[in-house]
Amino acid sequence: MGSTFLSPASVTKEHDLASLHLSRDQSLPVILSTQAANAADEGYAEGVVTNTRFGSFPHSTIIGAPWGSQIRASIVDTGSRGRGGPKKRKADALENEDGAGTKNAVAASSGFVHVLPPTPENWTTSLPHRTQVVYTPDYSYILHRIRARPGSRLIEAGSGSGSFTHAAARAAFDGYPQQHAPNGDDEGGEGNRSTGQVFSFEYHAERHEKVKAEMAEHGLDTVVSAYHRDVYKDGFLVGDEQETSPRANAVFLDLPAPWEALPHLTRHASNGTLSSLDPESAVHICTFSPCIEQAQKTVSELRRHDWLEIETVEMQHKRIDIRREYTSLQYDGLRGTNPYAVDVEEAVSKLREVEQRARDFHAGILSAKAAKAINNQQRDKSASLPFNGGKLIHRTEPDLKTHTSYLVFALLPRAWTEEDEAAAQAKWSKHV
Ligand code: SAM
Repeated sequence: MGSTFLSPASVTKEHDLASLHLSRDQSLPVILSTQAANAADEGYAEGVVTNTRFGSFPHSTIIGAPWGSQIRASIVDTGSRGRGGPKKRKADALENEDGAGTKNAVAASSGFVHVLPPTPENWTTSLPHRTQVVYTPDYSYILHRIRARPGSRLIEAGSGSGSFTHAAARAAFDGYPQQHAPNGDDEGGEGNRSTGQVFSFEYHAERHEKVKAEMAEHGLDTVVSAYHRDVYKDGFLVGDEQETSPRANAVFLDLPAPWEALPHLTRHASNGTLSSLDPESAVHICTFSPCIEQAQKTVSELRRHDWLEIETVEMQHKRIDIRREYTSLQYDGLRGTNPYAVDVEEAVSKLREVEQRARDFHAGILSAKAAKAINNQQRDKSASLPFNGGKLIHRTEPDLKTHTSYLVFALLPRAWTEEDEAAAQAKWSKHV
């Protein structure tokens, strides 16, 4: 079975996971279904109805729509169940049927949502939180730095709420090696596993079960294998007897004590036999810690285990909200125009000025008093700026969903054996 996360069809279907996009920061994951949600709803044509602050959305009006469509709210009071019963609803339906005989009595109303295919990004904003999660700005950066790409073999611990897992699955997925069977019976079997793989470890039993079930529900179990494991104690080997190496070339540790897992991530594993890392590839690692002391411990343990190019990055996101403010007098003179239009060049150049001022201030070039004087001058100047004279302001948004964290990155070069050296010498001698 394909995954709507990895390769959505062009239109929505029954049982698809969809993301109902309500606003920039709010989306609602729903499984589309025309089956009545409960016994009391039997006999209603619209099946499951999702109620939002923008109105009610019977799934029958969403199923079959191209992904990305705007869906209008039903004007039928879906809350009338129990008060009017099926008869009243049928009457409502007929009353509201439009010229084209709109199914299920859904007609234009002011509320709407957009129906989007599920993505790691919209899943992250709406998933049920069981732990702290890694948010999109962080996992985008992390996956880029650990070189996650189609075909990567990525170890993740702990799975937590599965936020990072979804993004890692999409990054590592490299298609199915076998052609899909012509009869559509393409489920199961090792042949249908992507070669890019995510090995996700979690020691909390319920969280592990939940992530495992979610991967199956989201069609990502061909890419992600979830393990119930204390990785500090038992490491990262896989297989029934923990006899197989995942041959990982990328690692992400979001654990309270990542340094305790590091002895299992060496070229020669702690049991002296098998390493969990790919011997033929360099391995990139990232650890995520909320405080600098934890990052320091990780760095020290990485050094002990031969990791190189160790770097710590502090993550502190700020989203900058740019808008134009008017006095009420200015606003009155602007009817019929878009008074909030922001000229992008103007906004960017203003931001650059502010950033430069901050740099000068921190470098000691600019005193606090001088910085304030320039700010005041700018404020006066902005009254004569283009775009209707409104004052361009920018504020940082306080509620950006991410927390300060320290990411430690490092690299372990590929293993180099006597056989590798002999092969390299032989290859070289052919060219000289
Ligand atoms: N990265 C996850 C996400 O984006 O949803 C969140 C991970 S959460 C902050 C940390 C997880 O590590 C918790 O679920 C915890 O149970 C798990 N954990 C802690 N110690 C562990 C260990 N020794 N082995 C495996 N998992 C562990």
